[in-house]
Amino acid sequence: MAKRDFYEILGVGKNASEDEIKKAYRKLAMKYHPDRNPDNKVAEDKFKEAKEAYEMLSDSQKRDAYDRYGHAGVDPNMGGGGGPGAGGFADAFGDIFGDIFGGGRRNAGPQVYRGADLRYNLEITLEQAANGFDTTIRVPSWDECDTCHGSGAKPGTSPVTCTTCGGHGQVRMQQGLFSIQQACPKCHGTGKMIPEPCTTCSGVGRIKRNKTLEVKIPAGIDDGMRIRSSGNGEPGVNGGPPGDLYVEIHIKQHPVFQREGDDLHCEIPISFVKAALGGEIEVPTLSGKASFTVPEGTQSGKTFRLRSKGVKGVRSGYAGDLFCHVVIETPVKLTEKQKELLRDFEKLTVEGGSKHSPQSKSWMDKVKKFFE
Ligand SMILES: [Zn+2]
Ligand SMILES: [Zn+2]
Repeated sequence: MAKRDFYEILGVGKNASEDEIKKAYRKLAMKYHPDRNPDNKVAEDKFKEAKEAYEMLSDSQKRDAYDRYGHAGVDPNMGGGGGPGAGGFADAFGDIFGDIFGGGRRNAGPQVYRGADLRYNLEITLEQAANGFDTTIRVPSWDECDTCHGSGAKPGTSPVTCTTCGGHGQVRMQQGLFSIQQACPKCHGTGKMIPEPCTTCSGVGRIKRNKTLEVKIPAGIDDGMRIRSSGNGEPGVNGGPPGDLYVEIHIKQHPVFQREGDDLHCEIPISFVKAALGGEIEVPTLSGKASFTVPEGTQSGKTFRLRSKGVKGVRSGYAGDLFCHVVIETPVKLTEKQKELLRDFEKLTVEGGSKHSPQSKSWMDKVKKFFE
């Protein structure tokens, strides 16, 4: 079959400008695009013809070769034609019109979508996070509807091709020069419509149920970390893969410890007598009791570090430390006898001079300097 002249196909003169060629092609493409002419062989051929003509004439090298040698100049099967950039014009075409006309995806049929991911918030204790544990959670799952066996149509009826998108699942919205491809609003991308929906599942084809899922919480997991359960999200559309389920960890406030990374912090109130005389202090840890010694003359706010008594890191595998912040407690609700002893004690302390209270002395010195 003899090939038609490219200029004739586009309906432009031999001296047509690039712009005229583009405009002519766009007009033909709009008219004969397969998405607008489903199952129309004549339109499809016209579209292909126009596309080829445009591809040739929009490339200056091709056009030059065509002008000189006719079809033989540009047909890659004729040998000697094409010239440099033989594959280039296809790319250029893709760049110019690929987005607008969607390239060759017209045969793709209904769009396949991956299901949405789901998030499950799991609240656990610090001890559970530190040691790890296995648990089960109830998550939504979707089973095929028993009544319609997944078709979504009332038994005895069947789904029909969507008239809005012609079964493609996608429509194009024209916006000036550009058109945007999006999921068909009528059939939501399935390409099908259900005239009489199944009453059990309201035409969805699936029934939402719950299932029990086993989750392994690794030791050392921290607040905000997520565990992925592959494929346990929402089901995909049109046979697309399901989404994933993410179990997000939330650690409850602990009555004693605050966690910072793999380290733990706690406040330990001690009496001023103990702080003054020094002694052994027993502290709780996540793995039983531990103790440390406060030296004589310990001041409030002093921190003691107990190595490896923190949380074993989920990634590092090393245990963090436990920081004990000492707070000196002022005694309250004293008896007359206790007050008496303290007054005597205070008298002796003052007599002993500023060496007993270096912080007060240093503070007084600063105040004096300030008023001088
Ligand atoms: Zn159903
Ligand atoms: Zn549709």
